[in-house]
Amino acid sequence: MGNGGVMVVRGARVIDPYRQIDSRDEDVWIADGHIVSPAQAVSPSVVVNASHLWLVPRLIDMHVHFREPGQTWKETIATGSRAAAHGGIVAVAAMPNTEPVVDTPELVEWVQHRGQAVGLVRVLPLGAITVGSRGEELADLYRMHQAGAVGFSDDGNPVSSAAMMRAALSYARTLPAAVINHAQERSLSEGGVVHEGRCAHRLGLAGMPEVAESSMVWRDVLLAGLTGGRLHEAHLSTMASVEAIGYAKQHHYRVTAEVTPHHLLLNEEVLLQWGYDPVTKVNPPIRPEATRQALLKAVQSGLIDVLASDHAPHHDDDKAKPYPEAPFGISGLETIVAALMTALVQPGCMSPLEAFGLMTTGPDRVLGLGFPGLRAGALADLTLIDPQKVWTVDPDRFYSLGHNTPLAGMQLRGQALATMVGGQWTMQEGEVLDAGLFAVS
Ligand SMILES: [Zn+2]
Repeated sequence: MGNGGVMVVRGARVIDPYRQIDSRDEDVWIADGHIVSPAQAVSPSVVVNASHLWLVPRLIDMHVHFREPGQTWKETIATGSRAAAHGGIVAVAAMPNTEPVVDTPELVEWVQHRGQAVGLVRVLPLGAITVGSRGEELADLYRMHQAGAVGFSDDGNPVSSAAMMRAALSYARTLPAAVINHAQERSLSEGGVVHEGRCAHRLGLAGMPEVAESSMVWRDVLLAGLTGGRLHEAHLSTMASVEAIGYAKQHHYRVTAEVTPHHLLLNEEVLLQWGYDPVTKVNPPIRPEATRQALLKAVQSGLIDVLASDHAPHHDDDKAKPYPEAPFGISGLETIVAALMTALVQPGCMSPLEAFGLMTTGPDRVLGLGFPGLRAGALADLTLIDPQKVWTVDPDRFYSLGHNTPLAGMQLRGQALATMVGGQWTMQEGEVLDAGLFAVS
């Protein structure tokens, strides 16, 4: 769309959790990268007929690993951005466990600028909690926040020291920004590669018990209560973790929580299906069916704020190693929208408005972004979704450099058809368009 051009998207079902609107009779007018009111835009130069499609504003995946700087054979900000656009995602929060770790304002700015130069998705940098994510010394949270960090995490590593977590929560409270923890008590999980249970025993693989996660989630929740700091727990995967979040919310602590699509769609039986293929190796591990059901119930009850992919791509060679040595992590950006539709919307577990809240208002609040939804003046960030499309996950068609996912071969219902960032199409009909620079604000 050229300068001064006006576009109207007609006929879509507009599902806007930012405004709490689910409407079939709202046209979306776009000019100069922004939403405009129909009164401001008299004659459109482009008309997009989107009947039978859903239109959702600014989808955010707040937990992705783009591996750059440092591990560009696994993924880059460019390839990760393409994967995001392909998946229908408009904004991502990039985890700082790169090489070097993003623990200075200069590196925060570097990630942000690289994201803008690629220009396909809004790349929001997260800064490390501790220097080098080593858990020993608090990083300069204030200056990273000033430079644009939208939160802090040592993800990949848990914050093992309770005193360090207390300090981080106290400090981040003044900014304000959330401290995001990968909760795992290492003395309990060390050496484990899968969930400690029946399937681990069958395969003779070392297990990680659920209490390795939940004991630290409880610790974090109590520290959030003590400090008044903002805590966000990444990728929850146990019932006792969920109960800790319930406790926190009952006591009005500033605590939010996230789950991943793979923990909602799969149970540990998937290990028997794939055998010793490390395509199922994720951290935290895939849990038993009873836990999966409990997580679904927690999401349904509104206890969980965010659905995030934990997109953690690896090179095929790394994932070809024997199970115990292969790295943890799978590619999730290109399946998360369909997974949300398949796990939550299609079975009637949640309304579309509630379900998409997990990828819009939920992460928006955790990261403090304040996107207003599709009202006049807002950036034209949106995704068109075909809710009826049934498709089979084929990692060979991923834009990500990582092709590992245990969802491979699975049938999902619902697919992102087009992605728009700041008025520019970044993907249409599954094809990523290199849009170039756009204004990030
Ligand atoms: Zn993690």
